[in-house]
Amino acid sequence: MTFHPSEPHGNSDTPVHTARHPGGGIIHQTGGTWIVVPHFLTDITAARTFARAAHSAGADAIELRCDRADRLTIENALQDPDIRRLKTILTIRPAWEGGEFSGTEEERLTLLQAGCRMNPDMVDVEWQAWKNSSKFAAGLSPLIGKPTDNNKADRPNLIVSNHDFAARPADIQQRLQAMAGIAAAAVLKVAFKAHTLIDALAALRLYTQRESFGKLPLVAIAMGEAGQISRLLAMKFGAAFTFAELDGHPGSAPGQPLVSTLVNGYRFKQQQSDWRVCGLIGSPVSHSVSPIIHNAGFQKIGFAGLYIPLLVEAGEEQFAQAVDALRSLPGFNLCGTSITIPHKINALAYALKNKADIDPVARHIGAVNTLLFSTDGHIRAMNSDATGAIEALTRGMGIEPADLRGQDIAVLGAGGAARAVTAALAALHGRVTVYNRTISKGLEMVKQLAGCSANLTARPAADFKQSHHKIIINCTAAGMTPDTTSLPFSAETRLYADQVILDTVYNPRRTRLLQMGQAAGACCIEGMEMLLGQAVAQFEGFTGQAAPRDVMRAAAEAAFR
Ligand code: NAP
Repeated sequence: MTFHPSEPHGNSDTPVHTARHPGGGIIHQTGGTWIVVPHFLTDITAARTFARAAHSAGADAIELRCDRADRLTIENALQDPDIRRLKTILTIRPAWEGGEFSGTEEERLTLLQAGCRMNPDMVDVEWQAWKNSSKFAAGLSPLIGKPTDNNKADRPNLIVSNHDFAARPADIQQRLQAMAGIAAAAVLKVAFKAHTLIDALAALRLYTQRESFGKLPLVAIAMGEAGQISRLLAMKFGAAFTFAELDGHPGSAPGQPLVSTLVNGYRFKQQQSDWRVCGLIGSPVSHSVSPIIHNAGFQKIGFAGLYIPLLVEAGEEQFAQAVDALRSLPGFNLCGTSITIPHKINALAYALKNKADIDPVARHIGAVNTLLFSTDGHIRAMNSDATGAIEALTRGMGIEPADLRGQDIAVLGAGGAARAVTAALAALHGRVTVYNRTISKGLEMVKQLAGCSANLTARPAADFKQSHHKIIINCTAAGMTPDTTSLPFSAETRLYADQVILDTVYNPRRTRLLQMGQAAGACCIEGMEMLLGQAVAQFEGFTGQAAPRDVMRAAAEAAFR
């Protein structure tokens, strides 16, 4: 029977053969990882609009989640030319596997059969359903095909799937082996909730073990923020497909990136298995603009690598375990990491333990914000916060670093950023007064850094009100989103036109402190300048090439807008 997409197909029991998406729906022929957007099908018009938007955003396929759809809607959707411009995956997920279909298994099978007759590219059936009910195998086998089966090569391919929304199953390999034993299986898919980066890496490791799963095309998804890298690196690791969201449309599971982020930010379609990986280790990391800045720069210089967020919970042990796991995963090609709160001191401990080559400034600061890994196992540790702060200050003031000698500088705060800034200024012989809310921390920091300069003092934050320093550098978190109305000093404090103010807080760009400085006529330097300065130093460490500063700046500015 010839099928015309414009004709409603009714309830015929005869398999129809729709025109497939150009390039075919057969997974092994595409040579790439599909970006799949899930869509909960209820209404054909909405599905059509969604499919058009997905197609123009760069998605390859649509997963029609038919949990709530009736037979006619499913059949119509699978015959719709706009929807069929994309590859199609038919899924009717039962409530017992995290879906919304609440009918009987017989009813579900009937709907799946009707859908399969419309010849979607793939149909997703849970391993449990296939295993537990011979009716599923008997009812669907005649309607599906395998890429290797010449007679039925154009029929929907079976995805055998397994989900765990609570945690990574301890027996995931055994499950995959059993799933691979299903004769009709064309693709294996496992999705589990990731609690740590180690869980996400376990998902990626499965791709390196495909020999044990019949070499079948695989999709291994670690759900949730901690697992997001399993989606971002899906192409590099050779996944059959990955899921992504369309802007303004919720996805079907936590941690799905936007299609536009994958395509434009992470150069998903260009990713190659030998690409190197850099990332930002911290907690939290999802707010960070560093991936946007570095990936824009990588793209500009054609660097075969990616920069990704790496969520690692607090703790020296957790940090060390995560970095060891990143370094040891075959094919991951860890190139370097930026390090943010709360791991900068843990990174120094890791560098010391692993006999890294540690820059003297980083050693002196007592904190590391960059680790570089060479292919021969050598590690280099540095602190580019110091470089970034000096660069932002001197560029903003139009002076050379040497001109900071003897300058009267106030550093507000005594945390990690303040330490880096103070150590760098002290090394340049600035006269630095550290003001901190908790004076004991300020005194302790000055004591530890005193070795590099006699011009360091610490005072309680309350004393700042009476002072008039030439340069003020805010290294506290005051003013940072969401607490944007707070100031690092009392509201009665005056600022003056002859002062220079650098706020290391970069979110928002124009902090309340900078607004106050601007009103006083002071020279104001945004934290984004420091962010850019430290990113440039890291970029050059990661790539060994000059950073395209203008491109990185434009990416940062666009991200902040
Ligand atoms: P941290 O180690 O946690 O230190 C926080 C510091 O801020 C401490 O001195 C703390 O004082 C003080 N503080 C926190 N809230 C305050 C408030 N409401 N009023 C007054 N003081 C307050 O953090 P960090 O790593 O140093 O980061 C501090 C800031 O620097 C953050 O906003 C971060 O975004 C920024 N930063 C920017 C860059 C960049 O590239 N632009 C790089 C690194 C950091 P106590 O000791 O009394 O608790």
